[in-house]
Amino acid sequence: MINKGDKVVMHTCMEAQFHEGIVWDVSYDEFTRNGQHPVVFLEGFSGSFAVEYLRKVDPSEETIECIMCDTQVLADSKGYIPGTKLGSYWCKECAVEEEKQQKILKEVEQMKITHTVFKNSDLEKAAKEFSNRVKTDLEGIAVVVNHVRKDEGRSRNPRYIVINTDENPRMIEEIIKVMKRFGKWGLTS
Ligand SMILES: [Zn+2]
Repeated sequence: MINKGDKVVMHTCMEAQFHEGIVWDVSYDEFTRNGQHPVVFLEGFSGSFAVEYLRKVDPSEETIECIMCDTQVLADSKGYIPGTKLGSYWCKECAVEEEKQQKILKEVEQMKITHTVFKNSDLEKAAKEFSNRVKTDLEGIAVVVNHVRKDEGRSRNPRYIVINTDENPRMIEEIIKVMKRFGKWGLTS
Protein backbone atom coordinates (compact mmCIF):
# COMPACT_ATOMS: atom_id res chain seq x y z
CA MET A 1 0.00 0.00 0.00
CA ILE A 2 1.37 3.39 -1.01
CA ASN A 3 0.15 6.41 0.90
CA LYS A 4 0.38 10.17 0.87
CA GLY A 5 3.78 11.27 2.15
CA ASP A 6 5.60 8.17 0.89
CA LYS A 7 8.62 8.57 -1.35
CA VAL A 8 8.69 6.39 -4.46
CA VAL A 9 10.65 5.70 -7.64
CA MET A 10 9.28 4.41 -10.94
CA HIS A 11 10.43 1.10 -12.38
CA THR A 12 10.01 -1.17 -15.44
CA CYS A 13 8.01 1.27 -17.59
CA MET A 14 8.62 3.97 -20.20
CA GLU A 15 8.30 6.76 -17.64
CA ALA A 16 10.87 5.04 -15.45
CA GLN A 17 13.44 5.31 -18.23
CA PHE A 18 12.70 8.95 -18.69
CA HIS A 19 12.69 9.71 -14.95
CA GLU A 20 15.41 7.32 -13.92
CA GLY A 21 16.18 7.43 -10.20
CA ILE A 22 13.88 10.41 -9.57
CA VAL A 23 12.32 10.29 -6.11
CA TRP A 24 8.65 11.36 -6.13
CA ASP A 25 6.51 12.47 -3.21
CA VAL A 26 3.15 10.72 -3.15
CA SER A 27 0.45 13.38 -2.80
CA TYR A 28 -2.63 11.16 -2.54
CA ASP A 29 -3.28 7.72 -1.01
CA GLU A 30 -3.44 4.71 -3.31
CA PHE A 31 -6.94 4.20 -4.76
CA THR A 32 -8.73 2.11 -7.37
CA ARG A 33 -11.10 3.42 -10.02
CA ASN A 34 -13.81 1.14 -11.49
CA GLY A 35 -12.01 -2.04 -10.46
CA GLN A 36 -8.88 -1.11 -12.42
CA HIS A 37 -5.27 -1.23 -11.24
CA PRO A 38 -4.56 0.86 -8.15
CA VAL A 39 -3.03 4.29 -8.78
CA VAL A 40 -1.60 7.24 -6.82
CA PHE A 41 -0.87 10.88 -7.51
CA LEU A 42 2.71 12.13 -7.46
CA GLU A 43 3.74 15.69 -6.70
CA GLY A 44 4.83 17.38 -9.92
CA PHE A 45 3.54 14.62 -12.17
CA SER A 46 0.37 15.26 -14.15
CA GLY A 47 -2.20 12.50 -14.01
CA SER A 48 -2.36 9.39 -11.84
CA PHE A 49 0.33 6.73 -11.83
CA ALA A 50 -0.06 2.95 -11.61
CA VAL A 51 1.20 1.59 -8.30
CA GLU A 52 2.57 -1.57 -9.95
CA TYR A 53 5.32 0.55 -11.54
CA LEU A 54 6.30 2.24 -8.28
CA ARG A 55 8.37 1.11 -5.36
CA LYS A 56 8.78 2.78 -2.02
CA VAL A 57 12.16 4.32 -1.34
CA ASP A 58 13.77 2.95 1.80
CA PRO A 59 14.90 5.70 4.22
CA SER A 60 18.38 4.14 4.20
CA GLU A 61 18.75 4.71 0.44
CA GLU A 62 21.06 7.60 -0.34
CA THR A 63 19.81 10.41 -2.55
CA ILE A 64 21.44 13.41 -4.17
CA GLU A 65 19.79 16.77 -4.80
CA CYS A 66 19.84 18.55 -8.16
CA ILE A 67 21.47 21.96 -7.69
CA MET A 68 19.04 23.53 -10.16
CA CYS A 69 15.59 22.18 -9.30
CA ASP A 70 16.11 20.49 -5.90
CA THR A 71 14.81 17.19 -7.29
CA GLN A 72 15.93 14.19 -5.26
CA VAL A 73 17.56 11.39 -7.24
CA LEU A 74 18.68 7.98 -5.98
CA ALA A 75 22.46 8.01 -5.59
CA ASP A 76 22.48 4.44 -6.83
CA SER A 77 21.02 5.28 -10.26
CA LYS A 78 21.96 6.78 -13.59
CA GLY A 79 19.46 9.61 -13.18
CA TYR A 80 21.96 12.39 -12.53
CA ILE A 81 25.35 13.71 -13.58
CA PRO A 82 28.04 15.35 -11.48
CA GLY A 83 28.35 19.13 -11.77
CA THR A 84 31.59 21.05 -12.18
CA LYS A 85 31.76 21.81 -8.46
CA LEU A 86 32.75 18.85 -6.33
CA GLY A 87 29.73 17.30 -4.66
CA SER A 88 27.22 19.12 -6.88
CA TYR A 89 24.84 17.22 -9.13
CA TRP A 90 22.38 17.87 -11.92
CA CYS A 91 19.27 15.82 -12.55
CA LYS A 92 19.22 14.60 -16.15
CA GLU A 93 16.44 16.97 -17.15
CA CYS A 94 18.30 20.05 -15.88
CA ALA A 95 21.56 18.80 -17.42
CA VAL A 96 19.87 18.62 -20.85
CA GLU A 97 18.40 22.08 -20.35
CA GLU A 98 21.78 23.48 -19.31
CA GLU A 99 23.48 21.93 -22.32
CA LYS A 100 20.92 23.60 -24.60
CA GLN A 101 21.46 26.93 -22.85
CA GLN A 102 25.23 26.67 -23.30
CA LYS A 103 24.80 25.82 -26.98
CA ILE A 104 22.58 28.86 -27.46
CA LEU A 105 25.00 31.12 -25.59
CA LYS A 106 27.82 29.96 -27.82
CA GLU A 107 25.77 30.64 -30.92
CA VAL A 108 24.71 34.06 -29.61
CA GLU A 109 28.27 34.99 -28.67
CA GLN A 110 29.38 34.51 -32.27
CA MET A 111 26.87 37.06 -33.45
CA LYS A 112 27.83 40.62 -34.14
CA ILE A 113 26.03 42.92 -31.74
CA THR A 114 23.93 45.12 -34.01
CA HIS A 115 21.63 46.83 -31.51
CA THR A 116 21.98 48.36 -28.07
CA VAL A 117 19.12 47.52 -25.76
CA PHE A 118 18.36 48.91 -22.33
CA LYS A 119 15.52 47.80 -20.14
CA ASN A 120 13.47 50.86 -19.21
CA SER A 121 13.09 49.72 -15.62
CA ASP A 122 16.90 49.47 -15.38
CA LEU A 123 17.19 53.02 -16.71
CA GLU A 124 14.67 54.23 -14.15
CA LYS A 125 16.69 52.61 -11.40
CA ALA A 126 19.95 54.02 -12.75
CA ALA A 127 18.40 57.48 -12.93
CA LYS A 128 17.19 57.22 -9.37
CA GLU A 129 20.44 55.82 -7.97
CA PHE A 130 22.90 57.95 -9.93
CA SER A 131 21.55 60.91 -11.82
CA ASN A 132 18.65 61.85 -14.01
CA ARG A 133 21.29 62.65 -16.65
CA VAL A 134 21.20 58.95 -17.51
CA LYS A 135 17.74 59.45 -18.98
CA THR A 136 18.22 62.88 -20.50
CA ASP A 137 21.48 61.81 -22.17
CA LEU A 138 19.76 58.81 -23.71
CA GLU A 139 16.81 60.91 -24.86
CA GLY A 140 19.32 63.26 -26.51
CA ILE A 141 20.89 60.32 -28.36
CA ALA A 142 17.44 59.13 -29.46
CA VAL A 143 16.64 62.55 -30.93
CA VAL A 144 19.89 62.66 -32.94
CA VAL A 145 19.52 59.06 -34.14
CA ASN A 146 15.97 59.77 -35.27
CA HIS A 147 17.20 62.78 -37.23
CA VAL A 148 19.74 60.59 -39.01
CA ARG A 149 17.07 57.98 -39.79
CA LYS A 150 14.71 60.67 -41.07
CA ASP A 151 17.44 62.11 -43.34
CA GLU A 152 17.96 58.65 -44.77
CA GLY A 153 14.22 58.27 -45.37
CA ARG A 154 13.84 55.51 -42.78
CA SER A 155 11.06 55.15 -40.25
CA ARG A 156 11.47 57.04 -37.01
CA ASN A 157 11.06 55.35 -33.64
CA PRO A 158 11.11 51.81 -34.99
CA ARG A 159 9.58 49.17 -32.75
CA TYR A 160 11.52 45.99 -31.97
CA ILE A 161 10.62 42.67 -30.46
CA VAL A 162 13.22 42.05 -27.77
CA ILE A 163 13.89 38.68 -26.13
CA ASN A 164 16.58 38.05 -23.55
CA THR A 165 18.68 35.04 -24.55
CA ASP A 166 18.61 33.74 -20.98
CA GLU A 167 14.91 32.90 -21.31
CA ASN A 168 13.72 29.30 -21.62
CA PRO A 169 16.33 27.68 -23.91
CA ARG A 170 13.68 25.73 -25.80
CA MET A 171 11.93 28.96 -26.73
CA ILE A 172 15.19 30.68 -27.74
CA GLU A 173 16.13 27.66 -29.83
CA GLU A 174 12.79 27.92 -31.68
CA ILE A 175 13.19 31.66 -32.19
CA ILE A 176 16.68 31.24 -33.65
CA LYS A 177 15.33 28.55 -35.99
CA VAL A 178 12.56 30.86 -37.20
CA MET A 179 14.98 33.77 -37.65
CA LYS A 180 17.30 31.55 -39.68
CA ARG A 181 14.38 30.41 -41.82
CA PHE A 182 13.54 34.02 -42.63
CA GLY A 183 17.16 35.00 -43.16
CA LYS A 184 17.17 37.28 -40.11
CA TRP A 185 19.83 35.45 -38.11
CA GLY A 186 23.35 36.69 -38.60
CA LEU A 187 22.50 39.91 -40.41
CA THR A 188 24.98 42.65 -39.64
CA SER A 189 22.91 45.65 -40.66
ZN1 LIG B 1 17.11 19.33 -11.85
